[in-house]
Amino acid sequence: MIDIQKIRADFPILNQQVNGKPLVYFDNGATAQKPLVVIDAIEKYYKEINANIHRGVHTLSQLATDAYEVSRNAIQKHVNAKHNHEIIFTAGTTFGINLVANGFAALLKEGDEVMVSHLEHHSNIVPWQLLCERTGAKLVVIPMNDKGELNLEEFEKLLSDNVKVVAVNHISNALGTVNPIKEIIKKAHKVGAAVLIDGAQAAPHLKPDVQDLDCDFYAFSGHKVCGPTGIGVLYGKEEWLRKLPPYQGGGEMIAEVTFEKTTYADLPHKFEAGTPNIAGGIVLGTAIDYLNEVGFDNIAVYEQELLDYATEKLLQIEGLRIYGTSEHKASVISFNIEGIHPYDIGTIVDKLGVAVRTGHHCAQPIMQYFNIPGTIRASFAFYNTKEEIDIFVEAVKKAKTMLS
Ligand SMILES: *Cc1c(COP(=O)(O)O)cnc(C)c1O
Repeated sequence: MIDIQKIRADFPILNQQVNGKPLVYFDNGATAQKPLVVIDAIEKYYKEINANIHRGVHTLSQLATDAYEVSRNAIQKHVNAKHNHEIIFTAGTTFGINLVANGFAALLKEGDEVMVSHLEHHSNIVPWQLLCERTGAKLVVIPMNDKGELNLEEFEKLLSDNVKVVAVNHISNALGTVNPIKEIIKKAHKVGAAVLIDGAQAAPHLKPDVQDLDCDFYAFSGHKVCGPTGIGVLYGKEEWLRKLPPYQGGGEMIAEVTFEKTTYADLPHKFEAGTPNIAGGIVLGTAIDYLNEVGFDNIAVYEQELLDYATEKLLQIEGLRIYGTSEHKASVISFNIEGIHPYDIGTIVDKLGVAVRTGHHCAQPIMQYFNIPGTIRASFAFYNTKEEIDIFVEAVKKAKTMLS
């Protein structure tokens, strides 16, 4: 069970007024708020142990290194990776996907295919397009239907020995669709393709089990799981991480450097060139621990309640259409009101204290599918309440009256 009073006390930012109204923060899909334990851990790092890692023999350097590796181990355990060296610290989901896409440039040739879905965030489209431009491989798209679900029959038809990589999201940030990735991974593996899962939107809502999923890569961002910006995780299966060349060259990622030839450090350091976001890496572990204490089962039940409640209330508004009506959905609602631009509604509800996202949500192909400029997106977290949903729905009604 979620003790909502106790949880909200952990998030000081929620307890404020915006434009003279109590803040209702429904933009969790863009970034999550940070609990006090995370804010305190950042301060503690800089006040007490700040030093560069994996370098000095001195005490602070060892303390910082230990804390960084403790966090890596916590993340390994959280996603159930087989080895801790399969956990690469990155700057975020975008960085992780680019790391993998860039690595595949060494492995692909003309005639090969890279598959993404119609439901992807731009950061799971553009890196693969760049890869295709470099290698002559072809980008193939898994189609979606009107409910915002992937068409798995078409997916199977598109699969062939030419497909080397399949990159899909676990949960769509624009529509909330939870994709059947285990099935997708299994089918892709039958033709020998590697599978990358963009877990940016799933990681805040569930605990991924990378061994059970059997994915080859799983990427997510720290800032969407109550951690800091500028830090993220790329899980990669050991065999793939060994096959891929390094993404960046520099300090920390080498075994030996001469002008004739450089040999690379072992995993995970091969992919962690330069001084990383040390505080971010350490504190990401704190954030993941916090979420596990709240409990992902509790989060799932509570967020489903919020989703059902908000869906029902919003659908009572005439002319309102929800995009993304898959049976399996995360707590994300994308919608429009007939004849009104989403931006105008977003602006008015902000004046009433409610933060939502409007626009294409970095998923323009989805907007093209529905032939709309964008949507209003409300995305709920476990620290949101039904009372906040009531305020939001009233704000939307008011905006509708003012604009029609
Ligand atoms: C947020 C998001 C990304 C990008 O994450 P960054 O933190 O901006 O790198 C990618 N995919 C999905 C589904 C997202 O929600």
